[in-house]
Amino acid sequence: MSDIILGWDPAGWNRWNYAAVTEQVAVTGLHLEPWSVGRSVAPGTGVWLLLLGAHGPGLIGHGVVLSGQPGHPDQAATSSGQPEFTVQVAFDALLPLGDHVPAAVLDAAVPGVVWDSAETEGMALESGDEAAVRALWATHGPAQGPDPTQPVPGTYPETAVVRVTANRYERDPEARRACIAHRGSSCAACGFSFELAYGELGKDFIDVHHVVPAAQLGGGYQLDPLTDLVPLCANCHAMAHHGVTTPRTQAELRQIMATAGYLRGTTVAPEEIEAQRVAREILGK
Ligand SMILES: [Zn+2]
Ligand SMILES: [Zn+2]
Repeated sequence: MSDIILGWDPAGWNRWNYAAVTEQVAVTGLHLEPWSVGRSVAPGTGVWLLLLGAHGPGLIGHGVVLSGQPGHPDQAATSSGQPEFTVQVAFDALLPLGDHVPAAVLDAAVPGVVWDSAETEGMALESGDEAAVRALWATHGPAQGPDPTQPVPGTYPETAVVRVTANRYERDPEARRACIAHRGSSCAACGFSFELAYGELGKDFIDVHHVVPAAQLGGGYQLDPLTDLVPLCANCHAMAHHGVTTPRTQAELRQIMATAGYLRGTTVAPEEIEAQRVAREILGK
């Protein structure tokens, strides 16, 4: 299944707010958009978005086809008389307008494709060209991938806009400093210390996790870094967000680890862990 090229000429179709969509993709890693294509395209097909028109051609985005269905018969005819199909595209990387990979770079890196041609739209890439486009995108595409603590594409919740705000607090350097100064740089859930494990390299290295549920974030919300942020190691932070839209608190994580028999130290004695293990055996879990 080869990647295909989809063309976008802003002068012809521009019903999305591209700047907002680009920002959304940078933060959440996903934007869904129905897209008209000239033929049936299998779900899972990789898509390269080619900017056309006055500022193109230029490579500006990447996505994956989620589903495809034939367009409505009444409106279903391209200029060439072929039926029109609409596919749902999950865009996972978009460059801002003006930052697209320009034609000169495309021509030099992927000479097998005639980039400045109407034929390019909807075209499937040969495997060599596909590898070249991917390599090009690795260096010219958006620098940052989606945040690993964000849900994976396909689980994007409606509340994500609010949660993005929450995650901004986690990245705020001032808030981080206040949190670490107050609570130290060991993980509040499992106790892991990057400094103990990695020495000088790990000094003050810790994630901060925002514990206020998104639903409680009103317009007048003011962050209190001493109560609303907790230091978490990368593993616990990932588990705090894994599979849930309202992140888990450090207390919930401790309970989960204790139940799993992992948590050691002052809260759970080895005897308790052993007792839990025996209990699980008796219960046949
Ligand atoms: Zn931890
Ligand atoms: Zn978090």
